[in-house]
Amino acid sequence: MSTANNTWRPATQLVHGGTTRSSHGETSEAIFLTQGFVYETSEAAEARFKGETDGFIYARYGSPTNDMFEKRMCLLEGAEDARATASGMAAVSAAILCQLKAGDHIVAARALFGSCRWVVETLAPSYGIECTLVDGRFIENWEKAIRPNTKVFFLESPTNPTLEVVDIAAVAKLADAAGAKLVVDNVFATPLLQKPLELGAHVVVYSATKHIDGQGRCLGGVILSSKDWIDEHLHDYFRHTGPALSPFNAWTLLKGIETLPLRVRQQSENAAKVADFLAEQNQIARVIYPGRKDHPQADIIAKQMKGGSTLVCFEMKGGKDAAFALQNALEIVKISNNLGDAKSLITHPATTTHKNLAEDARAELGISDGTVRLSAGIEDSDDLIEDFARALKAVSA
Ligand SMILES: *Cc1c(COP(=O)(O)O)cnc(C)c1O
Repeated sequence: MSTANNTWRPATQLVHGGTTRSSHGETSEAIFLTQGFVYETSEAAEARFKGETDGFIYARYGSPTNDMFEKRMCLLEGAEDARATASGMAAVSAAILCQLKAGDHIVAARALFGSCRWVVETLAPSYGIECTLVDGRFIENWEKAIRPNTKVFFLESPTNPTLEVVDIAAVAKLADAAGAKLVVDNVFATPLLQKPLELGAHVVVYSATKHIDGQGRCLGGVILSSKDWIDEHLHDYFRHTGPALSPFNAWTLLKGIETLPLRVRQQSENAAKVADFLAEQNQIARVIYPGRKDHPQADIIAKQMKGGSTLVCFEMKGGKDAAFALQNALEIVKISNNLGDAKSLITHPATTTHKNLAEDARAELGISDGTVRLSAGIEDSDDLIEDFARALKAVSA
C-alpha cells in the first residue's frame, strides 16, 4: 500500500509520502536494485505490456524505489506526475527537448546555469530549434521575444550566481497567451521556498544533486508537471532516450528529502546571518541576498518566495586577488562549485562555473572578477561568521 495524503503539510509528506512497503513491512524504504521484473504467466506479461494491468516492466521505464521518490516529490511540489532522472541536466534537457521539434522557438532567460544555457543556446539550434535569450528581470523583454513559433519559455529564479529573480507568474501568463509552456528550473529556490506550479508554470525541474540529496553524495534530477503534459510529451521520450535514475540513487534522494525542511531552514538562516555580516564589512562592495530588503527585486521576491535563499552572492573589493585570498583563508567553508550541501561551499564563478562565458556575457550577468558565491551549509552560524571574519582579516593583512 502506498502512503499518500494530500492534506499533510510538507514536513510530514517528506517523511511518509509515497512510501510503498513490501511484505516485510520495513520501516525504511527499500532499495529495489533490479533491472527487470518477473511475470507469473505469458498472459500476465502480455497484459502488462498492453497497459491492462499496473506494474513495472523495465527499470529504464520505472521501478519501485524511483516510484516512491517520484510520488514524494509530487506531493511536495503539488504536481500530478513526475519522472526521476540521472542528473539535473538530464531533467532539464529532457523537459525542454521532449516538447520541441525543428522550426520551434524557445525564449529563455540569459542568466542560467552554464549547462542549461548550452542546451538552449548551442544544442537546440543545432537541431533547428531557434532560441532567443533575454534579460529575464524585465517582463517586457519576454513579451518582445515571442514569435508565432514560440513553444517553450525557460528560466531559473533565483539565478546562478547573482541571485536575480524573474517574475514567474507574469512570465507564465505570457506563455499561456502565446500557447507556450513555461519550464522553471527551481534548484536555487528549493521546493520549500518557491512553488512554480502554483505561480502558473507548466513544468518544474530540479537537480536533485543539490538540496534534495543535500549531503553531497549522488547525482539526480526530477521533472514534475501535469499528467497530461507528461503523457503527451515526456512519457515516450523518457522511455526511449533513457535518462533514468539509478534505484540506488533514488533511495539516497528519497532518504535525503526526509530532512529537507530542517536543512533548508538552517541553511537559509545561516545564509541570512552571513549576508548581514558581510554587508557590514568594508572589504565587500556589495552583497546580494534574496532575503534582504536591499535586494533590487525585493518586491518580486516578496510575491513569490516564502524565504530568502540558501545562497549568498557578494563582491570583494580588489577583484580576483582578493576573492582568491578570501577563499584560501577560509577554514570551515570549503572551496567547491557544488551547492545545497550540508557543508558550506564557496566558489569564484568567473574562474569556475562561468569561465566558459565571454567576458562581456559575464559582465551582462553582473559577474565580476570579485564576485563570490556562498552556498550556506548547516553548521553553527557563529562558526561561519567567525570563519569569514578571520579570513577577511587575513585578506587585508
Ligand atoms: C546543478 C544545477 C543543474 C544541473 O544539475 P546536475 O545534477 O549537476 O546535472 C541545473 N540547474 C541548476 C540551477 C543547477 O544548480
